Amino acid sequence: MSYSQIEYSILGAVARIDHARPEMRNAESSVLLDEMDDALSAAIANDDVRAIVIGGKGPHFSAGHDLKEGQMKRANFTVEQRYEYEEKRYLGYCLRIWDCPKPTIASVRGAAIAGGFMVANMCDLIIDSDDAFFADPVCRTLGAAAVEVLVHPWVMGLRAAKDFLFTGRRVYADEALRMGMVNRVVPSAELDAETMKYAEEIASAPPFAIKLTKRSLNRVADQQGFRNSLQAHFDTHELSHMSQEFQAVRD
Ligand code: ZN
Repeated sequence: MSYSQIEYSILGAVARIDHARPEMRNAESSVLLDEMDDALSAAIANDDVRAIVIGGKGPHFSAGHDLKEGQMKRANFTVEQRYEYEEKRYLGYCLRIWDCPKPTIASVRGAAIAGGFMVANMCDLIIDSDDAFFADPVCRTLGAAAVEVLVHPWVMGLRAAKDFLFTGRRVYADEALRMGMVNRVVPSAELDAETMKYAEEIASAPPFAIKLTKRSLNRVADQQGFRNSLQAHFDTHELSHMSQEFQAVRD
């Protein structure tokens, strides 16, 4: 598969998958998400790859789902059509990042909003530039129940997640670091180099031991209800697409 909206590169033992629509602030169209999922499969299948970075070309990680495309192509979807579309591309693809047997690192510069927030937070680790920020304004601006994958309480804590979603405000890199939502913050000019250093450090560890350690850590979250709560929220989110509040914004 040749890619038009992402860049896929292999640098030694590290695979990089970058959102590559900088002129659209890396908005996640259906093509972009399909390509990202395809590249993830390629990185998993490549025995030389021991760590996977997900990033973005240009000044932003991603402004979220491509809402213009959604308005043009999916505004009048039935419940069944929307559920199928979002179950595959949003919930399904996100869980594939979560379940990836190799360690994943999100490298975030600028905005990681809504769908972009979701993708970054499905990665095992996050490294941020000091100008990075996160937001999920979907509840306030679209009248929907947050984004499709409610990873928020798992990565920022329950009370912070409520503040984040009820206000729709931005959380900048330093606050994200204090919350424990990101692992490292570096100056913007050094983000790419520091990301590679971080990824190479992890790629140098015994891969089978890392794979099993990740399985155990993810099972801690599953024992606490991670997967079930994500699936339950997905259904709730789909319900919110049919609310009068949501439809009034859409129209
Ligand atoms: Zn949705």
